[in-house]
Amino acid sequence: MAGALDGKVAIVTGSSRGIGKAAAMALAEQGAKVVVNYARSSEAADAVVADIGGAGGEAIALQADVSKADQVDAMVKATMDKFGRIDVLVNNAGITRDTLLLRMKPDAWQAVIDLNLTGVFLCTRAVSKIMLKQRSGRIINISSVAGLMGNPGQANYSAAKAGVIGFTKTIAKELAPRGVTANAVAPGFIATDMTEELKNTEEILKFIPLGRYGQPEEVAGLIRFLAADPAAAYITGQVMNVDGGMVMH
Ligand code: NAD
Repeated sequence: MAGALDGKVAIVTGSSRGIGKAAAMALAEQGAKVVVNYARSSEAADAVVADIGGAGGEAIALQADVSKADQVDAMVKATMDKFGRIDVLVNNAGITRDTLLLRMKPDAWQAVIDLNLTGVFLCTRAVSKIMLKQRSGRIINISSVAGLMGNPGQANYSAAKAGVIGFTKTIAKELAPRGVTANAVAPGFIATDMTEELKNTEEILKFIPLGRYGQPEEVAGLIRFLAADPAAAYITGQVMNVDGGMVMH
């Protein structure tokens, strides 16, 4: 497996399924050694590691609830102990707790902020220390079109995903002098477990010019590009949509 990411090490948070899994597979295909992070049960993460190994790549599964600082720090330390460097961080782990504002309980607000926003801060803070020393690195944060245009029932999620965009632009400026880039990817509706329960599909499709949901691999393609050298080396602080044309700037 020779590729553009040979010798590089990538952590993909929440990569036992969905977009994270597709990103882990895509980075490994290019030669990166990949940390498949999972929050609770190792079964699905072990299967992703086996798939990557079966295709000739290298990966390990590491448990960490990325909303918890001590678990994030332990994951980053374990990655360094195993691979000795970190070149790519994909902040992908995310949850939804959808309901309309007036029914939204503080715990539904807090759980989404804790993982989707604070988790991005915690992982980025831990990994950027290493990237700054290396004088190179790519941070790729998964935001959402909800963070750009809002979405009824997702006040917590939209706030977190908009927060990720402001965070990305700030760290892009802070880390740029040492060759570390940071960009945000904003997917639209992608066919994963997260969107499986959406009932009003016909309504949603009306707002997607390409007329269909995206596939996880179509988001992973952009993530792989943003990790590639030198292809994406001069891109930082950007928000890129993978949304079938839902949001046009
Ligand atoms: P998913 O539910 O399939 O995957 C989310 C992953 O995060 C799972 O592997 C889950 O185990 C993991 N996770 C949950 N809590 C965690 C924790 N505390 N610590 C570590 N990992 C944890 O969803 P997905 O659709 O693949 O979403 C991936 C990312 O893309 C999320 O950030 C999501 O908000 C974003 N996104 C998805 C869509 C979509 O349409 N599917 C659209 C825009 C943005």
